[in-house]
Amino acid sequence: MQATVNGLTLLEPRSVADALRMLRDEAPLTPLAGCTDLYVALNFGTLKETRFLNLWRLTALRTIEVRRGVLTIGALATYTDLIRSPLVRHRVPMLVAAAREVGAAQIQHRGTIGGNVANASPAGDTLPVLAVADATVVLASAAGIRRVPFNGFYTGCRQSVRRADELITALEIPPIAGRQWFRKVGTRAAQAISKVVMAGVVARARGGVDARIAIGSVAPTVVRAPRTEAALARGASVDEARRTLLDEIAPIDDMRSTAEYRRRVAANLLTSLIGGR
Ligand SMILES: Cc1cc2nc3c(=O)[nH]c(=O)nc-3n(C[C@H](O)[C@H](O)[C@H](O)COP(=O)(O)OP(=O)(O)OC[C@H]3O[C@@H](n4cnc5c(N)ncnc54)[C@H](O)[C@@H]3O)c2cc1C
Repeated sequence: MQATVNGLTLLEPRSVADALRMLRDEAPLTPLAGCTDLYVALNFGTLKETRFLNLWRLTALRTIEVRRGVLTIGALATYTDLIRSPLVRHRVPMLVAAAREVGAAQIQHRGTIGGNVANASPAGDTLPVLAVADATVVLASAAGIRRVPFNGFYTGCRQSVRRADELITALEIPPIAGRQWFRKVGTRAAQAISKVVMAGVVARARGGVDARIAIGSVAPTVVRAPRTEAALARGASVDEARRTLLDEIAPIDDMRSTAEYRRRVAANLLTSLIGGR
């Protein structure tokens, strides 16, 4: 089905296969999921795109299940779906913590994990979690399916390796060993885009700490902190780890915060992560 309102065209696929065919044959098309990001641009008059593909009714993309030991979260799973899922709560509690911090109830009911990933904002709350979970992004097109490691998905601010004819269909998360941790710092406790957002997975190891650390809002994309991770594995003290992290990130001043504030907060969050607070 196709509808046109005020120069905007909306295609309504009945299945995922239908959607992928439309992306191939009716380009250009912009996928539309919960529309919580897209609608902001539409409202501000900054949305350039005029032709949309409505994914919202494709319930096959909303499934959350374990396949061959890997947690598979459909791209259309909303934050509410994540919060309510016993599988996500059990396997990836840090993702539930992140979902609880997104917007308010309305956004949690409409906003999807696929939309958060595809939108490719450096401030997306689920992104540090997916980075430390060593998640995989499942991309589908009419030509087939490919899997991309989440940590290789972004190529720059709001840019990724996703092609225009591809949909994100799922995020795959392998079992995670270690303590999971998530923290977001914004202007206020709720309804705020992050100034700094960090996720970590920490386990004691011989001679040091086995840590995976990812930070959002301190670079054009969400980033892992490999030098800090390596320092902790070698047995670095908290102070050394903080210094390494400060060397490793290069946040900027922008409308939400200053580079200096972000650096201090990132170091303080690292202290909390390692200290288990
Ligand atoms: C009031 C408000 C508060 C918010 N608070 C937060 C917050 O606290 N933290 C946070 O991280 N975000 C926040 N957001 C941003 C937004 O809600 C999230 O990024 C959300 O996850 C976007 O999902 P969506 O389904 O609504 O995406 P949409 O708006 O439908 O799409 C976003 C982008 O992703 C693309 N896209 C969507 N799904 C797919 C797919 N399956 N495959 C390929 N491309 C796709 C679209 O083409 C578009 O470019 C907020 C937004 C608003 C309006």
